[in-house]
Amino acid sequence: EEWTFGQSQSRRSLLEHFKTQSLEGFGCENLQKAAIAAGALIQYLQETQKTALSHINALSTFNINSYMMLDQATTKSLELAQASDGSRKNSLLALLDLSNTPLGARRIKDWLLKPLIRLPEIQERLEIVQEFKNDPLQRNAVREQLKKIYDLERLLGRISLSMGSPRDLAALKSSIQTFPAIKYLLDRCQAQALKKYTSCWDNLESVFLRIDNMIVEDPPFDLKNGNLIKPGCDEELDRLKTITREGKQWIARLEASEREATGIPLLKIGYNKIYGYYFEVTKKNIHRVPEEYIRKQSLVNAERYISPELKKYEIEIVGAEEKILELEQNLFRQTLKDVASESARIQRMAKVIGEVDALLAFAEVAHRYNYCRPDVNDGTMIRVENGRHPLVEQIETSDKFIPNDVCLDSAAEQILIITGPNMAGKSTYLRQVAIIVLMAQIGCFVPADSAEVSLVDRIFSRVGAQDYLLKGQSTFMVEMNETANILNNATAQSLIILDEIGRGTSTFDGISIAWSIVERLHGSENLGAKTLFATHYHELTDLTAVLPRVKNFTVQIKEWNDEILFLRKIIPGMADKSYGIQVARLAGLPPQVLERAKEILMNLENGEFDEVGMPKISHSQDHPNPSGTQQLTLFNDPSTPLIQKLKEIDPDSLTPRQALDKLYELIKIFRGAKS
Ligand code: ADP
Repeated sequence: EEWTFGQSQSRRSLLEHFKTQSLEGFGCENLQKAAIAAGALIQYLQETQKTALSHINALSTFNINSYMMLDQATTKSLELAQASDGSRKNSLLALLDLSNTPLGARRIKDWLLKPLIRLPEIQERLEIVQEFKNDPLQRNAVREQLKKIYDLERLLGRISLSMGSPRDLAALKSSIQTFPAIKYLLDRCQAQALKKYTSCWDNLESVFLRIDNMIVEDPPFDLKNGNLIKPGCDEELDRLKTITREGKQWIARLEASEREATGIPLLKIGYNKIYGYYFEVTKKNIHRVPEEYIRKQSLVNAERYISPELKKYEIEIVGAEEKILELEQNLFRQTLKDVASESARIQRMAKVIGEVDALLAFAEVAHRYNYCRPDVNDGTMIRVENGRHPLVEQIETSDKFIPNDVCLDSAAEQILIITGPNMAGKSTYLRQVAIIVLMAQIGCFVPADSAEVSLVDRIFSRVGAQDYLLKGQSTFMVEMNETANILNNATAQSLIILDEIGRGTSTFDGISIAWSIVERLHGSENLGAKTLFATHYHELTDLTAVLPRVKNFTVQIKEWNDEILFLRKIIPGMADKSYGIQVARLAGLPPQVLERAKEILMNLENGEFDEVGMPKISHSQDHPNPSGTQQLTLFNDPSTPLIQKLKEIDPDSLTPRQALDKLYELIKIFRGAKS
């Protein structure tokens, strides 16, 4: 309801819920809009859950400036929580999540989407991961214990909402039972950073005892049939249980004595809900039934009776059973309440366990996949030696993954233009650099031989936009929206990866836009935003001539009999051509189409128009000039003296004086030719 968003209303509901005088303690006294949102949320939960919500016992503010910013496009293109096919299976999350508890799994997801930007916190995580990585025995010992821990957060949610089952309490108990062993193992570790967890460790002994004293081992799933509460917890319960137990023995004795007294050997005592306890006598023995028996029910072969004595015991036993059920349920609910009243302690430990589990998972990942500890610092360089893409290297193909280096430095190598044909591995390289930086900042080891990572405040990634087509937006529009976001928000501490920007429009448009984007990134406003720019526009490699912090790199390939071999190695320099036709061949385009494409490419490379203004792109070898006109112009005729002279010039070998002389000479020839 709109009124729940009223400032005073929402504030009041927060103060009432948390029973505080102000929101100061939660750090949001002055965050008016945040407090309104939280207040409205609490009211919504109260309205829909209709319970006390006692497990919601604190409010904490989340400041986006405390974490690395990752927009949706980046999260998606780096395949953090979801692979490009939409599944979790091939995502980075799935790779890193070797947790042994749901708490750890949740923490890893949280960390992955909120990388840290403060050095001490990152170092703490790395220190712990390092210790666990180096000590497999210790790591495995703790991980074994963690396997026995249930989802404490979920359990606590149910318990606090009074929806907890007996099994939930048993699960909580057996989880808590592992705590002392885990504490013991953690205490033996060297890492100082672990003190953060061990110093506030809580074995939750009172919670354990509360459940252990009250609830039987292996309790039933629900409360319907009792058998939940241990003997010795409640005198009245024990007394009633004795009555039913003895009552049952008494009935067994009565059955035996009645058989003897009546001489009916098959006389049985049974029980059903409608008639209660009864004697059952087969039809052929009914003449022996004593007088005080009262007939209640006739079956095909038997008659059922009650007697005053049987009735008396029945009232006592059945009454006791009902009371037992009621008492057990009350005692159980009380236990739930008692446990719920400790929810803050349990929640704290759930957080500790989750984080320890997440760090152990990172250590396990580092060990399994041979990752190294990154040197995260507040300098200006990102330098990776033999870095790998953690997901692509896992894909089983015949080709081994080729590791690559990167060196980015805000002051010198700020923007790397990476040219190379499609399929060469450009976008893999781009993503791998971004992922390595991100992994370092969540406190995880990274797939490389060594990595030096200066803190990054944001990662922007513009790589691929195919899936937006389904949403009815043009690829180009999406690309430009995302690029605008980058240009407007990147800072000197940002890392930007751009793949084939401008691809969605005409070549000239694309080159122009890409060129000016690079100029802008290099310019004063976001001086230093480290950028990797993959493109197959060779024209962009000329940027190095005008922008000092732009460097050219290319993916090495080998040309061989008109075919290409991808070597996947990133080296300084530029691709000499785009090899589009060779790549198209790999894709299986018909040979005739490829041959014709080669011809057209040659035409294009020789200039756009012929001497009579016909597009050269249309030429074919059979008809060099479809119009048939012969008209030579000055610049197209290679035999022109001016062209001859120009061709002869080797600018590198000229002194300034000689160059000037050449210029005069050329002008003279030109004027002579014109006149
Ligand atoms: P591009 O962006 O240049 O078109 P991609 O990065 O999409 O190329 O790479 C194409 C394919 O090459 C990927 O699917 C991957 O399997 C493979 N590949 C990329 N980089 C490497 C590498 N370093 N080592 C081995 N295979 C690689």
